[in-house]
Amino acid sequence: MEIITTVKGMQAESKRLQQLGKTIGFVPTMGALHEGHLSLIQAARNGNDLVVISVFVNPLQFAPEEDYETYPRNLEGDKILAKNAGVDIFFAPSVSEMYHEIQYTFVDVQRLTNELCGAHRQGHFKGVTTVITKLFNIVKPDMVYFGQKDYQQSQVIKKMIKDLNFNIKIVVMPTVREKDGLAISSRNRSLNPNERKSALSLYKSLNRAKELLPNERHSAKIIKEMRRIIEESPLTEIEYISICNSITLQSIPYIEGEVLIAIAVRIGKTRLIDNMLWINPL
Ligand code: AMP
Repeated sequence: MEIITTVKGMQAESKRLQQLGKTIGFVPTMGALHEGHLSLIQAARNGNDLVVISVFVNPLQFAPEEDYETYPRNLEGDKILAKNAGVDIFFAPSVSEMYHEIQYTFVDVQRLTNELCGAHRQGHFKGVTTVITKLFNIVKPDMVYFGQKDYQQSQVIKKMIKDLNFNIKIVVMPTVREKDGLAISSRNRSLNPNERKSALSLYKSLNRAKELLPNERHSAKIIKEMRRIIEESPLTEIEYISICNSITLQSIPYIEGEVLIAIAVRIGKTRLIDNMLWINPL
């Protein structure tokens, strides 16, 4: 596995590979790699000649009061996991390498970013779309891989790819879960044992929604029941529970067609998200 830390080095390598006619599958991450990331790497391996992974905790997507400083980092462990997973190029630039001058240019996807996490994390998606655009220009991938765990992010990137005519195909992979159902996340490492127990309430509430959905079409009733399940668990503070259109991400009072059920909950100091897609069989 080749390790690259400079933008110039990565761009030169991508250009060389393109000239050789090789296809590049790209998995952008913030590191502290886990099974979720590994499923994206595996999919990228299956669909491309080479796999590039980036590990970069992007300061631009964290608001000042958020967990940029304490976000889990494990670069040496990540290198081992990536190598064992068959990654060809491990791109891990420093912050000064990615933002070596004051940035005057930003990419902002509108509307979709007003909903869900976007309504609660000011400037978050602007930071995400800006860094992903930079990474696309540096890595020059043919295919990119994102996880459904961050459903809104995947929709925002899909729209950005279309709107800005990136010649890149996006693949969204299902959420990988722990044995008990908790969505795997780098942030799970910050949970103490009691918080870890309470974290399961996200998955439980989604499952309860799934049980109710065939016979209940009023979003408010389902949300009330989900809220009850989460609030029953200690240390939880709900940020949002939304039942929304899976394309526009706008809340809907009455369930029709394909819907997304998305939640964000603080467990102690840790913010966790999860979601489920549901298609009305009628
Ligand atoms: P992150 O390092 O958390 O920014 O995540 C990098 C990519 O991995 C994103 O596309 C995430 O959606 C995806 N990802 C994170 N956790 C999971 C998971 N449990 N299952 C599938 N994909 C995931």
